[in-house]
Amino acid sequence: EAATPWLPEKYSLSNQTAVVTGGAKGIGGAIVRELMALGCRVVVWDQDVSAVATMPGRLEAVAVDVTSQAAIEAAEARTAALIGTPDILVNNAGIQGPTVPLQDYERSAWDRVIAVNLTAVYAVSRVFVPGMKKRKSGRIINIASVAGIRGLTDGSAYGASKAGVIGFSIGLSKELVGDGITVNCVAPALIDTDLKLQMSEEFIRKAADRVPMKRLGKAEEVAATVAWIATPACSFTTGAVFDVAGGRLGL
Ligand code: NAD
Repeated sequence: EAATPWLPEKYSLSNQTAVVTGGAKGIGGAIVRELMALGCRVVVWDQDVSAVATMPGRLEAVAVDVTSQAAIEAAEARTAALIGTPDILVNNAGIQGPTVPLQDYERSAWDRVIAVNLTAVYAVSRVFVPGMKKRKSGRIINIASVAGIRGLTDGSAYGASKAGVIGFSIGLSKELVGDGITVNCVAPALIDTDLKLQMSEEFIRKAADRVPMKRLGKAEEVAATVAWIATPACSFTTGAVFDVAGGRLGL
């Protein structure tokens, strides 16, 4: 029986499974709740799963640093035992890194931001695509950013990593289009999460001011878009960038 009998089948994710990286909190946490609300069984991949209240059979957590290839492979094996190959993969784990001018932007910080935000998207996708191909279905949804299109002042690696996510996703969407797998990106503007704690009030005010809707976004607003892309209803879209940016990309 469907987990969500009140939902039309095309909007329901019952009998479906998902992996959400960085799903322990913030935008990822909201994505997990939204997918579960549509009936999906979710496995959170996060480096810190201490705050995830697991519900066996509905919500599980696997501790993994997505910058480690060995950790990814171990997490994939644990996940396979729980749900097999997920129907839906959401690559959401990400860090902002420093916001300093180029000359102060240390090479080690650049490497870390690229490793978490970009290389991990490649590496995690790579462990799940073979199973999705075999099954001839899958949804890969990557959390990029408006910064991947517009850049981020004093955030050279962040903007570059998110532009990379968009380029990677569009290329992969074409590669997998014959395999029943879609690959899409979501590009949020500044969203009200813990990431905000690393920013000055002035930075936040300026960011909100650049948005035609004149506010920060909410994690739930990003999650609703991700969930929509995951549903059977979103069946004729791949290689797209969905903005959740209060009109920011429309200017
Ligand atoms: P957050 O810091 O609130 O949550 C990030 C989660 O990712 C945390 O649970 C963290 O433990 C996990 N994580 C970080 N590095 C990891 C690693 N190496 N391995 C495994 N897990 C790791 O951040 P958020 O604001 O929810 O951001 C989520 C995504 O949305 C990121 O990709 C971010 O770049 C993107 N984004 C955020 C905003 C925003 O304004 N908050 C805007 C645009 C895009």
